[in-house]
Amino acid sequence: MPRIAYVNGRYVDHRAAAVHIEDRGYQFADGVYEVCEVAHGQIVDMRRHLDRLDRSLKELGIAWPMQRSSLVVVMREVIRRNRVANGLVYLQVTRGVAPRDHVFPPAGTRPSLVVTAKKIDPAASARRSESGIKIITVPENRWERVDIKSVGLLPNVLAKQQAKENGAQEAWFVDPDGTVKEGASTNAWIVTRDGVLVTRPADHGILRGITRTTLLDVARKHGVRVEERSFSVEEAKAAREAFVTSATQIVMPVVAIDGHAIANGHPGSIALSLRAAFFDIAEKSPA
Ligand code: PMP
Repeated sequence: MPRIAYVNGRYVDHRAAAVHIEDRGYQFADGVYEVCEVAHGQIVDMRRHLDRLDRSLKELGIAWPMQRSSLVVVMREVIRRNRVANGLVYLQVTRGVAPRDHVFPPAGTRPSLVVTAKKIDPAASARRSESGIKIITVPENRWERVDIKSVGLLPNVLAKQQAKENGAQEAWFVDPDGTVKEGASTNAWIVTRDGVLVTRPADHGILRGITRTTLLDVARKHGVRVEERSFSVEEAKAAREAFVTSATQIVMPVVAIDGHAIANGHPGSIALSLRAAFFDIAEKSPA
């Protein structure tokens, strides 16, 4: 079955799907994106993802490419055409196609919209969560506006590659004061020796992950104590548990940081129980 992508008004064969060479996403990374999980035929936390898309677009002064309700129709259609019951739907909006010039293109330039969907085997992620992942730490070297979900991800790409070359699956960006910001594509969490769930506040300096927001709801509903505060790499290494969250991985236990095992080197029980409870509490919309 051929994969289908939506590109600027058309559903096209994924292999032939293309945007113009003067698309500002290609030229300047002048665009934003969202990734929603699709689970059991439902789009997970779609409202929150589209609210964040709205915020990212507003922060950059990019217009919506179509009405929000129409975008939902396109997302559903791409999911349907690709027969995705479990996987993800990806959307990217850029400032559009215009002759290369740093300043914004003339008013009326249409933003570009690409929507794709792909199947992911939920069993693979479940297996991964049973063994956990290893992470490395890297110095924070990104711009200050990482709260905007921009497609400008070069530091994240380099950090992830460095993780891979060091036998790890994720990299945590660390501020000069030694506190953990977030992963290259995930938010970072620890559970202290006293059983308190800790994650960095999302007012600035990190992306406000949708999984993060929903997981805070899950934790509170399950009576887990939560502190939104910074934590250091040293505190994380001494923690009872560590894990990361993202729409595609939900809750993924971390079993080693820079080669140092977390607790007994196995996924933590709080991480795994939050992972198990996540889908019930997340908002679901029919795909
Ligand atoms: N931080 C960064 C830098 C990310 O790229 C992502 C994933 N897009 C996240 C955090 C997690 O966000 P979400 O839970 O919305 O997937």
